[in-house]
Amino acid sequence: MGGLSLKVPLLDLQHQYASIREDVLSAVTRVCDSQQFIMGPEVERLEAELAAALGVRHAVAVSSGTDAILVALMALGIGPGDEVITPTFSFFATAGSVVRVGARPVFVDVDPLTLNIDPARVINAITPRTRVIIPVHLYGLCADMDPINQVAAARGIHVIEDAAQAIGATYRGRPAGTLSDIACFSFFPTKNLGAFGDAGLVTTEDEVLASKVRLLRNHGAQPKYYHHLIGGNFRLDALQAAVLRVKLPHLASWNERRRANAGLYGDLFERADVTSRLHLPSEPQGMTHVYHQYVVRVPDRDGLKAHLASRGVGTEIYYPVPFHRQACFGHLVCAADTFPHADAAAAEVLALPIFPELTRAQQEHVVSSIAEWLG
Ligand SMILES: *Cc1c(COP(=O)(O)O)cnc(C)c1O
Repeated sequence: MGGLSLKVPLLDLQHQYASIREDVLSAVTRVCDSQQFIMGPEVERLEAELAAALGVRHAVAVSSGTDAILVALMALGIGPGDEVITPTFSFFATAGSVVRVGARPVFVDVDPLTLNIDPARVINAITPRTRVIIPVHLYGLCADMDPINQVAAARGIHVIEDAAQAIGATYRGRPAGTLSDIACFSFFPTKNLGAFGDAGLVTTEDEVLASKVRLLRNHGAQPKYYHHLIGGNFRLDALQAAVLRVKLPHLASWNERRRANAGLYGDLFERADVTSRLHLPSEPQGMTHVYHQYVVRVPDRDGLKAHLASRGVGTEIYYPVPFHRQACFGHLVCAADTFPHADAAAAEVLALPIFPELTRAQQEHVVSSIAEWLG
């Protein structure tokens, strides 16, 4: 079998770069020739293009996805004494940003099927101190936003989407990033739309919030050296904006390729007759999954990961430790809190290669290697 020598990395960014190299280099050259590196016209154009692509009124580019969450919390005035509800199963920044503004994250277990925050448990976690709920669209699938928005609206609680993994995803026909008061995206290089370094975005329909984020992004100064708020340096580089402007027009077709790859995995796993022993990701009705990650679940996850490594297949665990088990959050969890679904997920999840340029032969190699291990 020729497949045995095939290497399948978890992610291969070289392919994508090769397909847009000339455009990227001319955009980078344009910025170098201008010698304007911080904010400026490239960032303004990127913001306008992203606002149009996402169908949102205000798009404010920032320095990273983490800073997007931080500045969104700052813009809402969240601080000491406030509680912010987050899923316990996400990337660290979702909860870390809450602590950085002085507020208390309150962790909630996830839905066992989607691994997104469970709206029923959100309701139980609300107290008079709850100011914000941060649903995460994990792996590129939107959280169940309608019940969350309903309970939030009834209690005067804000909702911030962590859409870092979900650019292009939709929920009941509406795009991720337009489903809450304020939304956060990441353009970390491995994300579905990746810069050549750190970059992020805040989106909102609210004029006042957008102005506040713009002010906070640059030390609260307007004009320069006249400070209205205590913000930070959350500005975006012109070089990152220029690269993102080259990539943005390709995003929809790259996401389509990810979805097609997920569909092919489904067919191949079905044909290999392993779907009773391997839990595959699914796309609930009314949602468009953009497969930032294609995550399967299996009881002996570490065994499968090691086997795939021996067959040249790259995989990763997103995420091995839920928030309620992180050393730095130890003081936040009461003895009565339990998070069985997040704990099970942390033990069982494994992300397989799903990048747009993946070939059919590579996918067949991944599936036959998994079938071989399942026996
Ligand atoms: C990537 C990511 C972030 C943080 O984005 P950075 O750009 O790396 O700072 C936040 N939340 C989630 C869910 C992410 O996947």
